Amino acid sequence: MKNKYLNYINGKWVKARSGKTLDSINPANHDEIIGSVPSSSEEDVDDAARAANEAFKSWRLVPPPRRGEILFRAAELLKKHKESLGEIVCREMGKVLPEALGDVQEAIDMAYYMAGEGRRLSGETVPSELPDKDAKSVRVPVGVFGLITPWNFPIAIPSWKIFPALIAGNTVVFKPSSDTPVCATKFVEVLIEAGIPKGVLNLVHGEGSRVGSAIVKHPDIQAISFTGSSATGIQLETVCGSLHKPISSETGGKNPIIVMEDADLNLAVEGAVWGGFGTTGQRCTAASRVIVHQAVHDRFVKQFKEEASRLRIGDGLKKTTQVGPVINRSQYEKILAYIDIGKKEGAELILGGKPYRKGECARGSFIEPTIFIKVKPEMRIAREEIFGPVVSVLKVKNLEEAIQAANQVDYGLSSAIYTRNVNDSAIAERDLDTGIVYINASTIGAEIQLPFGGTKKTGFGPREAGGRGGALDNYTKWKVIYRDFSGKLQKAQIDKE
Ligand code: NAD
Repeated sequence: MKNKYLNYINGKWVKARSGKTLDSINPANHDEIIGSVPSSSEEDVDDAARAANEAFKSWRLVPPPRRGEILFRAAELLKKHKESLGEIVCREMGKVLPEALGDVQEAIDMAYYMAGEGRRLSGETVPSELPDKDAKSVRVPVGVFGLITPWNFPIAIPSWKIFPALIAGNTVVFKPSSDTPVCATKFVEVLIEAGIPKGVLNLVHGEGSRVGSAIVKHPDIQAISFTGSSATGIQLETVCGSLHKPISSETGGKNPIIVMEDADLNLAVEGAVWGGFGTTGQRCTAASRVIVHQAVHDRFVKQFKEEASRLRIGDGLKKTTQVGPVINRSQYEKILAYIDIGKKEGAELILGGKPYRKGECARGSFIEPTIFIKVKPEMRIAREEIFGPVVSVLKVKNLEEAIQAANQVDYGLSSAIYTRNVNDSAIAERDLDTGIVYINASTIGAEIQLPFGGTKKTGFGPREAGGRGGALDNYTKWKVIYRDFSGKLQKAQIDKE
């Protein structure tokens, strides 16, 4: 018997109007169906958008500290359910259990953080140029937000969007990835238990091209927050532009680690293994390129290969596993195609490069950790996002060449440099054209209290996470209020002769 999950619209669990469903499959074992969810369409989105629009009328007037109390309860409940949520993340998305628990932890952190923002949603009070008049700016909610999320952080990324959207007084139509709909449903169940009123948070499952597209175009949905691939992001930005609808999109990456000649090589190797193969290379911040100074290149490569070859591949639920499956069949094919492209482009494959089918792994989508050396910046494997366990190593002569290679891609999410030279680290910090720069740490591991996002094709619009300068700017708009208590017509300075 497979578990059946539903949409959540206007405070009720409902089927898709069409009655159609789609299955979610365990990427470590294709025989296991995690559950079936509604395969929704435009009319379901319409129901959700109407409910959210109606609920906005009252939710926007709930004092933000009260909204914060609900989020605080959500944080406590997420803590309580952390183990079971982590397990479902592991089974549905494939990441290893400790990382799956981390996915939930990020949502807990974000819930606490945004709960606190309920008491800090501040604007400015400034003096007026006229007597008996005051002037201030306040943050107001935008309205109904359409939130569209990917599969690789199936609880964390929805939390990055839902919590700031709600604390600011918006209501939500949420469409999770059709690869991880059960995680999203379990997450929404917790938020309902925390006391989110009906209509404030609506969940609509289904295919991106149908449900996501209907959300973006719906006239009652005032703004969009999207995380996913650059191709989809750019498509949605174009549609939103034509509709005059604000959108923030967080998209792909091709994140480099630079290893200088004076680096702590053990640390750099550890960082490259964790950044390149953690989450099976399926993080937007994954270190898919390592740019190594020629003086330490051969030593680094030897050690990197040794360490990566020891990684244990398997089902993420097994305690010994370090690298889980890739999410689905089409990603699996895409990654293998890129490995082929790398070989044809003349890069040298020194590790992996093949599907991994030993024992139980034959039932899932597993690919060996793969390393290419002799990669040139112009090769496709050095420029395009593969989103799998494939790392390209590039050799450079000096820092200048390293930074040039690092920046020579269309993406700009995260970068890292390993060096003990304070001047080199300062130059890298200044010149690496990415939204996040790490010094002596890998490209992954961003913290939620600072803005998250990137440059170039990695992002568009305000950043995620963080407070001011980050998520709050995304989910609120400014209103400026002038109050004249002089009892007479006072002309502004520009209108006086
Ligand atoms: P995707 O673009 O295929 O899908 C993302 C979401 O958009 C899904 O919910 C999908 O159903 C929906 N969608 C797809 N086509 C749509 C359309 N035409 N209209 C509206 N919605 C549509 O991405 P994915 O494969 O789920 O995720 C992997 C990508 O996400 C990678 O490129 C990765 O770098 C990126 N990512 C970026 C960040 C970041 O913060 N920068 C974080 C995580 C993942």
